[in-house]
Amino acid sequence: MRSILSARRVRRAGNRPTVTTLEPRMLLSGSPGIVEDAPATSPVSVILQPVASISTGTSSTTTSNNGSLHPLSDVPLLHSDPAAKAKIFLDFGGAPAQSWGTYNASVTPAYDVDGDPTTFSDTELADIQQIWARVSEKYSPFNIDVTTQNPGSFGARQAMHEIIGGDGSWINSSWGGATYVGGFATGQTTSFIFSDNLTDGEPHYVSEAIAHEMGHAFGLQHQSTYSNGVLVDEYNGGTSQSAPIMGNDYYAVRGLWWNGPDILGANDIQNDMAVIASLSNGFGYRPQDHGQTIANADSLNLNGTAVSAQGIIETTADTDTFVFSTGAGAISFEGDVAQYGPMLDLKLTLLNSTGNIVAVQDTASLGETLTQTVPAGTYYIQVASHGSYGDVGQYTLIGTIVPAPQPVAPPTTTPPQVSAQPTPPTNSTPAATTSTSTSTPKSSSTLISLNLNANEMTKHRALLTWDAPDGTVIRIIVQRSTDGSTWKNVGHVSRRTRRMIDHRVPTASTVDYRLVLVNRAGQHITQSIQMMPLTVA
Ligand SMILES: [Zn+2]
Repeated sequence: MRSILSARRVRRAGNRPTVTTLEPRMLLSGSPGIVEDAPATSPVSVILQPVASISTGTSSTTTSNNGSLHPLSDVPLLHSDPAAKAKIFLDFGGAPAQSWGTYNASVTPAYDVDGDPTTFSDTELADIQQIWARVSEKYSPFNIDVTTQNPGSFGARQAMHEIIGGDGSWINSSWGGATYVGGFATGQTTSFIFSDNLTDGEPHYVSEAIAHEMGHAFGLQHQSTYSNGVLVDEYNGGTSQSAPIMGNDYYAVRGLWWNGPDILGANDIQNDMAVIASLSNGFGYRPQDHGQTIANADSLNLNGTAVSAQGIIETTADTDTFVFSTGAGAISFEGDVAQYGPMLDLKLTLLNSTGNIVAVQDTASLGETLTQTVPAGTYYIQVASHGSYGDVGQYTLIGTIVPAPQPVAPPTTTPPQVSAQPTPPTNSTPAATTSTSTSTPKSSSTLISLNLNANEMTKHRALLTWDAPDGTVIRIIVQRSTDGSTWKNVGHVSRRTRRMIDHRVPTASTVDYRLVLVNRAGQHITQSIQMMPLTVA
């Protein structure tokens, strides 16, 4: 990956535009014994970038944390698809000196943004989580697990070991990373990301660099631009809206897998996703996670009048289809793309019981909201890709339906559990008023119902959704319990947040969640909800 060399110094110097020098990434051939370096010194392009445009994601919001330090072993164990056999191990903890092909790699320090590589700060742990989430989105169409947990072995076609840290001075301290092209299949499964060269470990840049280097490991060449057959730029920079992961996507809104001419020639068209999913890598696309037609539609998760689902659009032909019944009235659905670094541009389609289209929503924005007034009946909501190459990735779907005339099956999630614990009783928190639900029972006066809903997505991952609290709430703490009496904080989110994924659902027969609403006067606890994991092992 290219490095962004001068950014660190210039950013500290003041608010003038930064001259960012981009230098060639490393290109190593996977052929045994043949190592082919891209030229290391001549800049291929110069980009003027205003400091203000550097996106920092949420890492900046974590600086308000108390600044506690954690041992390097405190990296959260994250998995994007624990069941997948193929792994990308994101290793933030540093690595010993080692030989690497014909090179001698010196010791790699741990991922570091605060100048202390011996510990992880709260900010660094938040950055790690964000980097994992961003890389997970990139590889979500494929049957591969992006994880921070060491899989132990790194044989050919098993696992990539991505070591993230330091400045790579042992090979070239102007590069963002180094990987053997095709190394996953040939067994050269160690790759390096020199995060110190990526604006001091900035999560967005580090994530794009990882996605790019892993692309090389899976056999991809650079996406390039040509004019009349003559190479213009080895790294296709796309537009401000989208650019190839295998080109230069640092400054685009979306970094996408691409279908275009690669560095081997103007007529050598590289279909990135087909290469990654090819037999030589062996893992292929992720299996369909939902039915594709009204004949095999999946049910939506139902909690009162709130419905939800979660899934992945693996290809532009994917049409995840969900069935539901509603009473007459206005129903609405919101399809959201990934929180960090979304690739997906999605489309929502509402179908009636015979499969005829009732409404379609496919605007220029990546997510969509569809609202429709309908007669009572059975309907289908379909999530699909907008359809351009690269419009793939993860989504969450939430919606509101109208209570059916005769209440059917009760929600599988069950009700309140009033072991209200450390509740500094507060008199000034008004009850929630924004809920449109009519069916969720309000429990005792000290509890507020926000239609909290918990659904297992995959083993150890749960999607939590809830309604907006009233305006006095300043932030929300999400808590989890496995015994119904002791509660552990699993997330601190803003008052505007309405969903969260718990990536560390413990193995237990039941898992309870609740929200602690914090207002200026104190705290209030919502009713808890119980989730029963489908997979217990
Ligand atoms: Zn490259």
